[in-house]
Amino acid sequence: MSTKPPQSPSLRSAAEARLSDARTPASTRPAEELLHELQVHQIELEMQNEELRRAQSALEESRDRYVDLYDFAPVGYLTLTDTGLIVEANLTGAALLGVDRAKLLRRHFTRFVTPEASDHWHHQLMCVLLRGDRQICELAMQRADGSRFYARLDCLCRAVGDPLPRVRIALTDISERRHAEEELRIAAIAFESQEGMMVTDSHSVIVRVNHAFTRLTGYRADEAIGHTPILLRSGRHDKTFYDQMWQTLREVGYWQGEVWNRRKNGKIFAEWLTISAVKTSDGDTTHYVGTFSEITKNQEAQAEIHRLAYYDPLTHLPNRRLLLDRLGQALASSTRSGCHGAVLFLDLDNFKMLNDTRGHAVGDLLLSEIAQRLQTGVREGDTISRLGDTISRLGGDEFVVVLEDMSEVAEEAAHQAKAVGEKVREAVGLPYDLDGREFHCTVSVGITLFFGHDESVETLLKQADLALYQAKGAGRNCLRFFDPAMQSALDERSALEADLRLALKLGQLQLYYQAQVDSARHIIGAEVLLRWTHPQRGLVMPGQFIPLAEESGLILPIGRWVLETVCKQIKAWSGHAASRDLRLAVNVSARQFRQPGFVAEVQQVLAETGIDPTRLKLELTESLVIDNVAETIAKMQALKALGIGFSMDDFGTGYSSLSYLKRLPLEQLKIDRSFVFDLATDPNDAAIVQTIITMGHTLGLNVIAEGVETEAQLERLDQYGCTTYQGFLFSQPVPLAEFEAFLGL
Ligand code: C2E
Ligand code: MG
Ligand code: MG
Repeated sequence: MSTKPPQSPSLRSAAEARLSDARTPASTRPAEELLHELQVHQIELEMQNEELRRAQSALEESRDRYVDLYDFAPVGYLTLTDTGLIVEANLTGAALLGVDRAKLLRRHFTRFVTPEASDHWHHQLMCVLLRGDRQICELAMQRADGSRFYARLDCLCRAVGDPLPRVRIALTDISERRHAEEELRIAAIAFESQEGMMVTDSHSVIVRVNHAFTRLTGYRADEAIGHTPILLRSGRHDKTFYDQMWQTLREVGYWQGEVWNRRKNGKIFAEWLTISAVKTSDGDTTHYVGTFSEITKNQEAQAEIHRLAYYDPLTHLPNRRLLLDRLGQALASSTRSGCHGAVLFLDLDNFKMLNDTRGHAVGDLLLSEIAQRLQTGVREGDTISRLGDTISRLGGDEFVVVLEDMSEVAEEAAHQAKAVGEKVREAVGLPYDLDGREFHCTVSVGITLFFGHDESVETLLKQADLALYQAKGAGRNCLRFFDPAMQSALDERSALEADLRLALKLGQLQLYYQAQVDSARHIIGAEVLLRWTHPQRGLVMPGQFIPLAEESGLILPIGRWVLETVCKQIKAWSGHAASRDLRLAVNVSARQFRQPGFVAEVQQVLAETGIDPTRLKLELTESLVIDNVAETIAKMQALKALGIGFSMDDFGTGYSSLSYLKRLPLEQLKIDRSFVFDLATDPNDAAIVQTIITMGHTLGLNVIAEGVETEAQLERLDQYGCTTYQGFLFSQPVPLAEFEAFLGL
């Protein structure tokens, strides 16, 4: 802008000169000319005036513009004295400090610096004043209302026309930038957290990973960046898994779940992965951020819990719980496919003996070996099971095999199941090497077929179990099918059991007495045998109801009743010469003997009746004894100490082992009637009987033969050295009155 009044002094002097020229006589110029001249000048002056005014207004305009620019600049401008007093401020500066400009002037700038930053500010001010050059700093400031902000201060010292130095400050609010920086710092620290992190671009190319990523995956940043996360794929998830993940990511911008990945070293691990899409305000995805933590340990723990809950720890086969589950699935699948299935119930025939004679560790070895044989291979060809079949261990020596996808025709399916059952028998029957010793084992198999949901899981297992029971009954080492006739037997059993519960209370049980005689056929005692007079069925033999009573636990009250009745009888007979020396033999069943209070119970009955305990003899079976030899011996000894004698019933049919026989406090061996039966005709049986008698004598035991029906049998037994007998030849089991009459009481 030009502020100089154009040529004004020269114009003036020129105009004056001319005016004086006009006053000289020498002048020839006429007055008009002069006037004209003046007028010209006047106009000229006016024009200049005009120009000056315009210059003036341009100047003002320019100043206003400057003031506007100054006041409304995006930067706050402040001028301070050397003591920090604000002497000038633009509107922005005032607004930044939150004070009206008028009130801002003459106030100390320090007033707007936070106490923490105040030292910094003073140092800054000194620097500016001393050095005089530009100084830049960032300060935490506070407005008049106390709210805080970060400012950048651009300071300059100027001594313009003033003897005192002035400090000019350009003040910028940098809170947002500082905030962003802070966020970045936090993000950077968060990025280096314990969780693995991976950032990819929108094309899934990894652009950044953190240290935890390297720790968890084994890939360094430079090995991962530039690749896609496919680098980590374990192959455990199919395409649908990833398709669904991407679909969710596209739809909601977020995905979370369990992923199996592979480390650089090839090991597979489970991670809990969260993926978030980073989007612009327009909704375009620029990046994906994946965060993951390893959960393999949780997985392993979970798997362990699952294993414990559903698998047998010894054989690693599914346990009962899983079997029930699988069987349920098999029923559903049979409904869908229209194919038959089968349940094979297996029970080893002589497992208890192995366990008791060679210890549980060897028993476990056998069970593991059997589990392996059952599992090996597939059903086709030489092998037993095939993929999809469930082989489970119910506990003890019981296994269950579920076969699926068999024929649609029942007869064919039965044939297939039988074939598998036979293979099972064959495989189990092969010799075992148990701890360096050969062992042979047989198995009984009960089979039932299923078709759709005709029967429940529980019913099927019961049916197979019942068939197994039949197989055992048929002499073991064989297989039996469940059939409806078996079902009616099952129903009848249940009905009988219900009746048996009342039998004792209703006085339907009775004791029969079967005489035992010596070589001179003198009665030396009797075996007491239970009879049940059923109101509809009539006389029910113990073979029909003792197993039932055992299973249901009814044997305990029944057994106690027998014992009490027998002891009372001994007491009653103790007053008669013809009966006081008789000994009564009572059959004791396994469950009864096993109950913890058995010894005490016997003791109590003895005390209550006050009989001579030597008049009482208990008959135990070999299978009872072998069940737990140590416990049995302890109990027998306790009872023997009371004066009670023991006879080993059904001797020869069980697992006679001299080793334990010697340790038992026995008094008598009772040759099973099956050997006596064929004694005269079967040389084999004759040899057995002879051996038993010889062995008994060697061990110092009395030997009694049961089931003696003929004179020929008696003769043979006598020849072999047997001295005591029981059987129809001498007497049937008879009711008390009859027996007493027999005795002549
Ligand atoms: P056990 O102890 O072996 O009884 C002998 C069985 O042989 C009796 O059958 C008896 O009637 C039968 N018997 C006796 N002499 C002859 C004979 O010359 N020829 C033939 N063929 N059989 C003969 P029972 O009375 O049917 O008893 C069967 C089983 O029931 C008994 O076998 C015993 O184990 C059990 N039992 C009987 N009473 C009781 C009892 O009170 N408690 C317990 N726990 N079991 C009992
Ligand atoms: Mg007996
Ligand atoms: Mg017997």
